Amino acid sequence: MTPPSSGVPGGGARPAADLPLAHPWFAIEWHADGIVRIWEPHVSRLLRANMFLVKGRDRDLVIDAGMGVESLRGFLAPLLDKPVTMLLTHAHVDHVGSAHEFAGDLVMHAAEAEQMRNPPDDWRLSFDEYPEDKRRRLQAAGFDTTGLLIAALPRPGFDHRAWRVPGVEPTRLVDEGDAIDLGDRRFEMMHTPGHSPGSISLWERATGTLIGGDAIYDGLLIDTLPESDPAAYRVTMQRLRNLPAKVVHGGHRESFGASRLAAICDDYLRSGAAP
Ligand SMILES: [Zn+2]
Ligand SMILES: [Zn+2]
Repeated sequence: MTPPSSGVPGGGARPAADLPLAHPWFAIEWHADGIVRIWEPHVSRLLRANMFLVKGRDRDLVIDAGMGVESLRGFLAPLLDKPVTMLLTHAHVDHVGSAHEFAGDLVMHAAEAEQMRNPPDDWRLSFDEYPEDKRRRLQAAGFDTTGLLIAALPRPGFDHRAWRVPGVEPTRLVDEGDAIDLGDRRFEMMHTPGHSPGSISLWERATGTLIGGDAIYDGLLIDTLPESDPAAYRVTMQRLRNLPAKVVHGGHRESFGASRLAAICDDYLRSGAAP
């Protein structure tokens, strides 16, 4: 999840039938480090998460799976020409929607595997269908909780009320110190809890590249979810602060460099969110 942003409502009160069509559904951006950022511009700011594609010599790696409103695998198909591994940084709704399309090689941390097998029933595309307590919590945090969580439709006839995230069984559970090797690129897994208990960040030592999931991005970090742990988050921030990272690709918003990483970590550590 990511914080509210002025002027970017959650889809507003516009009826679904009046929404424009958006094709392609995804936006894409190539970075100099060979990492491709993909996101869903028509998902509300609250849930507009990043996905990443890293093309390796022996296999391709996709990190996170968006909302699943439209097929991520279908969108990426022209870019995929090798076996594909899907790594989930964590199992929040905005990161796992298309995970089931990568069921052959699905990697995540054990602490959130059950949520991926059996996604919560309250993952919906309309705030009207949210449980009242969840809606109140988001309102208290300053989010607009009216209308839909999408501002366009991915295809004619798309029924937002029928949308659900399919459950899927992970094929490999990873933890601190494990690695994913693409042949010419190698990412070490860091267990970076705080936002969620099974949050994983990927560290490519050779290039100083960090892919942080929702542990780190350039926005207000969320440590107030029922599954969050601010004390653990502080430890994660201290670890990330000490990484010799040159480029950081976060779970939301745009990528950034070393000085911004330090500032984000310092801001969090100064905030006193935990003892
Ligand atoms: Zn997120
Ligand atoms: Zn999250």
